[in-house]
Amino acid sequence: MKALTFTLLAALLTSAGAYTVQKGDTLYSLARAHNLKVEDLRRLNNLTSDNLVIGQQLRFSASEPLAPASPASSAPSGFTLTPPPAGSAAAPTTAAPVPVPERPVSLPDKANSVIVKPGSHFAIGGVNVELPSVLSMGDAFVVRLMGEQAQNVVVRFPSELGEDVRQPNEALTPYGAAGVYLVPGRVVLGKTTPVIVELTLGSEVVRGIIPLRPRPGGPVVHLRLAPQVAEKLTDPGKAAEDALVNKAYLSRGLPRWTKPFTAPLSSQPIPGSFGQSRTYTPGSPVVYHYGADYLAKSGTPIHAINDGTVVIAGNYPTRGNFVMLDHGGGVTSLYFHQSRLLVKVGQQVKRGDVIGLVGSTGIAEGAHLHLEVRVRGEATQPAEWFNRLWP
Ligand SMILES: [Zn+2]
Repeated sequence: MKALTFTLLAALLTSAGAYTVQKGDTLYSLARAHNLKVEDLRRLNNLTSDNLVIGQQLRFSASEPLAPASPASSAPSGFTLTPPPAGSAAAPTTAAPVPVPERPVSLPDKANSVIVKPGSHFAIGGVNVELPSVLSMGDAFVVRLMGEQAQNVVVRFPSELGEDVRQPNEALTPYGAAGVYLVPGRVVLGKTTPVIVELTLGSEVVRGIIPLRPRPGGPVVHLRLAPQVAEKLTDPGKAAEDALVNKAYLSRGLPRWTKPFTAPLSSQPIPGSFGQSRTYTPGSPVVYHYGADYLAKSGTPIHAINDGTVVIAGNYPTRGNFVMLDHGGGVTSLYFHQSRLLVKVGQQVKRGDVIGLVGSTGIAEGAHLHLEVRVRGEATQPAEWFNRLWP
């Protein structure tokens, strides 16, 4: 499959001088495939949007001719909002979503740096460090630090550099008490290369490498949104809505929860809904679905998945009536498409509190809850959080 992808890429490149965007391509996957950063690809092609359109021409170096103006994309900016409608409207195809070739990790040599084996425990300045032994895209995880100096360790994820991710390689200080400190991490959807964790304590620097297990991607699901729903994708209020949410993702601070996370509804989410590759209208770009969708009757109470502060509660064009809770620690949860909101901005909620009722506002065809759990703004698999204090 991978070999076929490469062959296809090469053929497309040599025949036209520029690359023609295929079904499943994302700016991120193409940047990875060509050892470029997403921003390089944007600059080389004068892109004003991260959304690609099938058939669009791209170049990967300044010497390749730039194709005529790319079709302007008016598609959703990645977060996506509806379950496949019941019946035959959602037509899965066999196209593979987002092929991303592996790239070997090469790090510049750095004094005092140690590359540790995956899954091993190691120490820095007397602080014991535990990392997960393997991860998949969409995972949330924690770096666990134990020892007197644990709270003085600075943690970064340098593998995020070059990823299409918010605040890559941010310097993070651990949260905790009693000699056990944690830093949450996220594996962005689309990632296939190892996660690199860098720990700094005084002059000592240690790096850990966590391999990535491929996550079996389902087929691309092609939704055909009704015109009156699809037009919300280009609502003039969408940019302000996204800006509000993006600003709220920047919140950090200490975790405000003390008990395990819990599900928002008693029903189970639609299997495979988190991380699904989708299109919304015929020919629109393939995008990831960043939440888990729960089918439920309109009016079903929605419960806060943990303690937090209400940072957004209002009606917006694409997410509909939605609530965003800031749980501290860079962790937020979002509840879309509600029929009624029962909390206000600034309110403190407790785990299990009813924050609103299920509905079908925003980009939704039928009543459901779209739940997102994000780490520093990047979507993680919600189910991984339930019944645990940390993923
Ligand atoms: Zn959804």
